[in-house]
This record gives sequence, C-alpha cells and structure tokens, in this order.
Amino acid sequence: MSRTAPRAPSDSPEATTVPPEIQARLAQAGLRRTLATRAVIGLFLARPAQGLTHAQVLAALASRGAAVNRVTLYRLLDRLAAIGVLERHTDDDRTWRFTLAEGPDADAVPRFECDACHQQFRLPDAAGPTRAVVEQLQHTLAMLGHQGGRIDLAVHGTCAACSTCPGDPGPDSG
Ligand SMILES: [Zn+2]
Repeated sequence: MSRTAPRAPSDSPEATTVPPEIQARLAQAGLRRTLATRAVIGLFLARPAQGLTHAQVLAALASRGAAVNRVTLYRLLDRLAAIGVLERHTDDDRTWRFTLAEGPDADAVPRFECDACHQQFRLPDAAGPTRAVVEQLQHTLAMLGHQGGRIDLAVHGTCAACSTCPGDPGPDSG
C-alpha cells in the first residue's frame, strides 16, 4: 500500500521552512523574509508551546549564531504580533511573552497557561462547548452593534507538573 503525499515539502536544508499561512501573512503585510525574520519564526516553530520574552529570543538567536540587533528584534517581534504571526501575552511581572499564533480555526480551542512555568496547553477536547460559547458571545456583540473579531480564550493557573511540588515542606515544618 503506497500513500501519496498531498504536497511534497520543499524545504531547503539551510533555510527555515516557513509554513505557507505564515508566508502569506508576511507577504500581505509587506514584511520581507529576512534572515532574522526566518530565524525568529523558526525559533517559535521549534517550541510552539513555550512563551518567549524578548530577552529569551535574543539569547536563543545568539546561541544559534543568528545574532540580531536588540532594537531590530524588538521591532520585528512587535511587527509579527501586529500581523498575527505571533501572539503577545503579559504575565504577572508585566513581561511580554510571545507565542506562535494559531490559525483562525483555533479561535474556539481554549488554552490553559501555567503562570508558574508559562507553558501553554491547548484544550481541543473543550472545543465543542467553547464554540457554542463563542457563538453566543458573537451574537451578544452583534446585538450591541459591535463587530466581534478574534476571540482569545485562555485559562490561567498552575499546571499539573508545577502543582506537584517536590520541595513540599511537609507536616513537620514550622
Ligand atoms: Zn507549570
């Protein structure tokens, strides 16, 4: 049995393969696919669940031998967030963290973000009921004359790994 692949991946060994939907957004925004842009996108593609701060992106790029000017990187991250390639979140320390934005289909898939380790978990099992909530929200907005766009549903808390703390003081503390 031979399965025919719908599309042959056209990746070159040197360049980061930028997914077509991201390429389309870059082209639409008139953003040139510079080495820095590809390096940044490649970084986020490699670790899609992890939110990265400016400083972490800067350090990761430097360690990959793709050092980018600090100010250039700030502008690039902001630009990528503005055109919807990246998403920007703040944590309790008011530090911006960037993650790769999901496609439009992912709007109704809620996310859970651990405030301790900043890992994000997608919750596709909850997509069904969430979609109903989203439709209700959109309906409510429409009744008020507002035009609802993207809906971002995120639950914040402590993930399973972080809540089982191995350094628990135990009953005989204090
Ligand atoms: Zn955690």
